[in-house]
Amino acid sequence: MSPEAKEAKAESLDFVRRIVSDDLAAGKNEGKVVTRFPPEPNGYLHIGHAKSICLNFGIAAEFGGTYNLRFDDTNPAAEEVEYVDAIQEDIRWLGFDWGNRLFYASDYYERLYGFAVELIEKERAFVCDLSLDEIAARRGDTEVPGQNSPCRDRSVTENLDLFARMRAGEFPDGTKTLRAKIDMAHPNFHMRDPVLYRIKKVPHHRTGDAWVIYPMYDFAHPLSDALEGITHSICTLEFETHRPLYDWLIANVSVPARPRQIEFARLNLEGVLMSKRYMLRLVKEKKVSGWDDPRMPTLRAFRRRGVTPEAIRMLCEKVGVSKFNSLTENALLEHCIREDLNKRAPRFLGVMKPLKVTIMNYPEGKVEEFDAVNNPEDDRAGKRKVAFGREIFVEASDFMENPPKKFHRLAVGNEVRLRYAYLVTCREAVKNDRGKVIELRCTYDPDSRGGNSPDGRKVRGTIHWVSAEHAVKAEIRLYDRLFVSDDPAKELDKDLDELLNPDSLIVNREARVEPALEDFAPGVTFQFERTGYFCADPDSKPGAPVFNRTVALRDSWGKKQQNSP
Ligand code: ATP
Ligand code: MG
Repeated sequence: MSPEAKEAKAESLDFVRRIVSDDLAAGKNEGKVVTRFPPEPNGYLHIGHAKSICLNFGIAAEFGGTYNLRFDDTNPAAEEVEYVDAIQEDIRWLGFDWGNRLFYASDYYERLYGFAVELIEKERAFVCDLSLDEIAARRGDTEVPGQNSPCRDRSVTENLDLFARMRAGEFPDGTKTLRAKIDMAHPNFHMRDPVLYRIKKVPHHRTGDAWVIYPMYDFAHPLSDALEGITHSICTLEFETHRPLYDWLIANVSVPARPRQIEFARLNLEGVLMSKRYMLRLVKEKKVSGWDDPRMPTLRAFRRRGVTPEAIRMLCEKVGVSKFNSLTENALLEHCIREDLNKRAPRFLGVMKPLKVTIMNYPEGKVEEFDAVNNPEDDRAGKRKVAFGREIFVEASDFMENPPKKFHRLAVGNEVRLRYAYLVTCREAVKNDRGKVIELRCTYDPDSRGGNSPDGRKVRGTIHWVSAEHAVKAEIRLYDRLFVSDDPAKELDKDLDELLNPDSLIVNREARVEPALEDFAPGVTFQFERTGYFCADPDSKPGAPVFNRTVALRDSWGKKQQNSP
């Protein structure tokens, strides 16, 4: 690379990549880059986690480093093996492979215990008899320093003895903690003698009942990073105020490496509540059908809905990395989904709200097959046959009784193109006794096979259709945002029901689709021409398909970008 090219590349780096790049240039960490993604296995991964994964794993890959997957499993009460398995499945789906670099904070319990003992020996930690509530009450506030614990001056010998007895299970939950001895007047609350260990007589999903004391996140995290030789510990902004404690621990314990914590702004999406705690509540209170309900922000919900990992990675890249919290528009996510699917989604014909059309001059019982293009964006996708007959269904919204001037679709007297088939002219609209149009009578031009105009006459409208005889009935599920408010995290004092969008799921059981979709497997997202992207839902039964709408076709974000100067 030329010096200019190098410089240009360096300038385009986000601030995290810039730090990593500068560290490498300065020869820090022996030229190594090691990152980690540290999920707590207390729920399923959401799209915010995807941003962290793309950043942590992406940086390691870009700078020739390695990345670890580490389960931060220090809170046995909320954690389950189910989540451990699901998290790995979801990261693989997203497109990352950590090889044999899978770790668990719980594997370090013995060494972490050793580090705690080291702090006690250095008189930098003590066993405290106050309850968590009492500790909180004595923490002080921004103006007022906190009060020292009455146990702060215990001797090293006494502390070592009490800590060993905490481990041995001699004391009930909540009666003792191990605390760092830093400074109760420190301007940063996290430095006011923070709790490092608590007693919790709860079995752990990996260590069973070997332990009854568990390290706090703030203690386990930096030390686990150091044990793994992490060079750059990238996390979200809320940990910025924890960094002095992170650095204090690294400086005061004889760890084998000196990781550096860097904070970036988390991903927030409009109308989405990105918190495992609240997602769990939605599941438990049955506001959604489960963690993979397509309205949820979990990776498995996106997968079930037909969103591809490529689209999610594209979103993370477009959102970028910054130090400032912001709310990402849903339109951008939808834009990424369309960008990706447009190139590779096979096309099909499907009618959402069917209106019957009889082609009066088409022979009864005759069936013709037409070539339909599988994907106009992909020459290799080939063609398929679609059956055509005297009775077809078209979209009810493609007919108007009293059309405005520029309406080029079906209206009595209008000629339209049936995609891939023929030109037809609407002659009559048949109504039921309540005045509702229930059928259209049309004639076709036998010389317009394939939908081509035989004499150059202009036919502006092209509509989709399915053969009444061949089409299959399908259930279509349309999704909208789960929360009414753009930023539901700000309104959590309200009742859940008040926050939820009552129209987040709309079920349509009338749709008719091409027979090729009858037993279509979930996992492949396709396009219903003119309508949107869809994929089969696992709720589908043989002969009774259910389709999720991944996203509608209209791209408001892409349009906005085009129109802006
Ligand atoms: P939640 O608040 O949803 O429960 P969490 O932060 O408690 O999430 P963890 O399992 O601790 O979940 O997160 C693992 C990693 O993912 C952390 O490093 C965290 O900073 C990061 N992360 C969590 N949410 C987001 C987000 N919305 N955007 C980017 N990174 C995130
Ligand atoms: Mg967390």
